[in-house]
Amino acid sequence: MPFVDTHLHLEEVVDPAAAVAEAVEAGVTRLLAVGTDLATSRGALALAGGHEAVFAAAGHHPGNSADPDLGAFRELLREPRVVAVGEVGLDGSPDPEYAPMERQLGWFGSLCDLALEQGLPVCVHVRESADLVHRVLRARPGLTGVMHYFALDWEWAERFLDLGFHLSFAGIVTRATRAELREVVRRCPADRLLLETDSPFGLPAARKRERQNRPAFLVDTARVVAEVRGISPAELAEIEWRNALSLFTRLR
Ligand SMILES: [Zn+2]
Repeated sequence: MPFVDTHLHLEEVVDPAAAVAEAVEAGVTRLLAVGTDLATSRGALALAGGHEAVFAAAGHHPGNSADPDLGAFRELLREPRVVAVGEVGLDGSPDPEYAPMERQLGWFGSLCDLALEQGLPVCVHVRESADLVHRVLRARPGLTGVMHYFALDWEWAERFLDLGFHLSFAGIVTRATRAELREVVRRCPADRLLLETDSPFGLPAARKRERQNRPAFLVDTARVVAEVRGISPAELAEIEWRNALSLFTRLR
């Protein structure tokens, strides 16, 4: 049973074509390549056009310094292989390169509105900003999506689950020190659970020697998630596949 890597930066992976082939071989047969600005979103769409396994998301990462061109994003979102708006969100970490929160909030709100208008889910980045992100999402009933690279505690998990959002777990859950996060993995409702690698970032513990994370390494995370939930990897694959297809309705 195949897995879906619901969030990766495929363009930033060394040799994307080889990484896709390796992933499919490993049983990761659908990959959602996200964009962080207009150029990388177009790049993700180009990769989706060249690989049956790859679909794209168009987004504007909070780490950008320039404003997004909303008209150009609207055009991109009409492409059938663009299945979501992402990566979008808020980042409150003290990085001087990041735009002030005021501007991030403006972009995030507009892109969430665009997602609602186009009937697409959002892939949400949240860092040092859970309360603000929650407020933006809560203000938009009907908006669906996934909290990508989920690494907050169960209290926050519940708050985002209450909004109808999915939680996506990455390689960080395999780290020995993250027992509390594995408790969130255990308690996450079966119909809201997704997996991702966030390649080339977020190496799973067992791949420490690798230079970059790759979508094939999703199986490491899947093994740990299945173990924590007391199910087989095959059962987990079935659950995750169903969830991905129900959230990303254009995914095939
Ligand atoms: Zn990402």
